[in-house]
Amino acid sequence: MRSFVYDHPAQRVIFGIGSIERLADEVGRLGARRVLIVTTPAERRFADDAARRLGPLAIDVFAEAAMHVPIETARAARRRAAELNVDCCVAIGGGSTIGLGKAIALESPLPIVAVPTTYAGSEMTPIYGLTEGGVKKTGRDRRVLPVTVLYDPALTLSLPPQISGPSGMNALAHCVEALYAEDANPLITLAATEGIRALARSLPVVVRQPDNLDARSDAQYGAWLAGMVLGAVGMAIHHKLCHTLGGSFNLPHAEVHTVILPHATAFNRDAAPDAMRLIADALGAPDAAQGLYDLAVRIGAPISLEEIGMPLDGLDRAATLATTNPYYNPRPIDFAGVRQLLEDAYQGTRPINPAKAGSHV
Ligand code: NAD
Repeated sequence: MRSFVYDHPAQRVIFGIGSIERLADEVGRLGARRVLIVTTPAERRFADDAARRLGPLAIDVFAEAAMHVPIETARAARRRAAELNVDCCVAIGGGSTIGLGKAIALESPLPIVAVPTTYAGSEMTPIYGLTEGGVKKTGRDRRVLPVTVLYDPALTLSLPPQISGPSGMNALAHCVEALYAEDANPLITLAATEGIRALARSLPVVVRQPDNLDARSDAQYGAWLAGMVLGAVGMAIHHKLCHTLGGSFNLPHAEVHTVILPHATAFNRDAAPDAMRLIADALGAPDAAQGLYDLAVRIGAPISLEEIGMPLDGLDRAATLATTNPYYNPRPIDFAGVRQLLEDAYQGTRPINPAKAGSHV
């Protein structure tokens, strides 16, 4: 057994179909009297429903959250919270919405109650992101960690297959990298493998039958575990590459994760054999990287950088950016290796397992 340090954060999680009915009780439990509800324009209906449930506790709805938390939006939301003297923020929506809630909490003592409606996992992490002048900066701060998270799988029923699939692969990516994290620990390893199992079995059903509530519950259970592991341990080359591609080439977040994941996994294949075995077993596949690729194909998600808008002539710059600052990865980072990884991801080819080259696995 490896030595480890695990600083477990305190968070209250309520999980279950219909748990949105407990929103007012959960807000009341925090002693809050004046609640600001934040969301995106597209998820406004969720916020209006939350306001109805909160009754007089709901002071206002701020429905201007946007992808990557533009600083102007964060400032406007902070101003609104201060002007209205609110004492709690309910963030109901996907990662963009929860990111805005975090941006408010970063500069005020407001507790966040997060109600996620995608599988991104932000609600379980102390990581925040803010975009200023076209540059997204991220940081870690315990103040932004939602104090209460309410998972109601019924709220994900409207998530269309083309968003559900990549969003679930985004969650899977957190679990994959947690298994070879530098600061991995036994509890997080258990959560990550269980997260992969839950997502791998549920996502194909979710995209085929979007209104299957059992599969939706299973997927959100996997997403909860994925968010937990993302918040607990450090990520490596996969997340670094996705951050670079999303930030510098404006590629869609969940789709980038989907495309890069099999190739980042193949990149680390020989350097993290224990993690590879756990991933492959959890996927029920002979090879981790190929299993992830096959899952993406099966759920009809994008498999190449080309199809999600990456310019071919940007691959060199992306490889340079991703190899500039040294960071932990089980396999040492080198330009040639990362450039090849990006080339493979651009083409969308199925990763080869050299140990089994010539066979069909
Ligand atoms: P998102 O919130 O922008 O949602 C993606 C899309 O799904 C949007 O079009 C949204 O309108 C739609 N949507 C959301 N819920 C829906 C529902 N129930 N029904 C129908 N449509 C719905 O993005 P996301 O993929 O949830 O999250 C990605 C963002 O979150 C990125 O900015 C990423 O950096 C951030 N993120 C942060 C962390 C963290 O720990 N800080 C973790 C994961 C993701």
